[in-house]
Amino acid sequence: MKLVRTKAELLTARNEFTGDTALVMTMGALHEGHLSLVRQARKLAQNVVVSIYVNPLQFGPGEDFEAYPRQLEADLALLSELAVDLVFAPSDEEMYPRTPLVSINPGPVAKVLEGKTRPGHFAGVLQVVHKVIQLVRPEYAIFGEKDAQQLALIKSMVSDLDMPVEIIPLPIQRDTDGLALSSRNTYLSEKEREIALELSASLRLGADAVAQARLTGIKLRGPELREKVAAALGAQEQLQVDYVEVVERDTFLIAGRDYCGPALIVLAAWVGTTRLIDNMEVEIG
Ligand code: AMP
Repeated sequence: MKLVRTKAELLTARNEFTGDTALVMTMGALHEGHLSLVRQARKLAQNVVVSIYVNPLQFGPGEDFEAYPRQLEADLALLSELAVDLVFAPSDEEMYPRTPLVSINPGPVAKVLEGKTRPGHFAGVLQVVHKVIQLVRPEYAIFGEKDAQQLALIKSMVSDLDMPVEIIPLPIQRDTDGLALSSRNTYLSEKEREIALELSASLRLGADAVAQARLTGIKLRGPELREKVAAALGAQEQLQVDYVEVVERDTFLIAGRDYCGPALIVLAAWVGTTRLIDNMEVEIG
């Protein structure tokens, strides 16, 4: 496994590849969620590239850019066990030698949910994803459904800008107790981790309600489903809900009373000072 720190080194190493390439982009502090993407990359393509970069452009003022866990040595040890070919871990100066003058407008989907609480976040995400895909030129780029809105926007960028890469989504990896794996879970105390279980528990309650409604022939549409999940999450007084919504899976529009089809229950909450997100897919109607 080769570690490269500059774009020039990356291009040289990449040009030595024969066969197809799969890319996994991460901010490091790797866990089983990231590793599931890397394993899939290994199965898909002859060459596997992993990027590790805490992208400052996607953090807003007052967010956790400085505090974000950085543990390159431990990450490299994990990746070397998965037969990764190339790791790209650039510095900020390497990635952004100047403040970019040109950026991607992520459009209306970037203004709701995560984008409402984190203005500019998705423009920052698309900037770095576009850059790294351009540098690596992979046939496949693999992303987790954990960041569902990010995934939707990356798919839109690839489609609208005709980027020659196939985006491969993979399911959320959870701990045995249901908590979605996240690098930010390292911020949680033992007590906070207990409280955080309410995120996945509320989603499961929502998914169960959908299944129950189907069995009994009762109509349970987006707005009622949202109320159920929001009530469950809101009942845990030790966390602060940011949003709970039910959205159409492919457009991220709010799933209204008339919508039947694949939907996502998406939510975000603060547990102490840690902001966590989670989601679950359901079939409405
Ligand atoms: P991050 O390091 O948080 O930027 O995440 C890098 C990639 O890993 C993104 O595509 C995430 O969606 C994905 N990812 C993060 N957590 C999980 C998880 N629990 N399950 C599956 N994929 C994940």
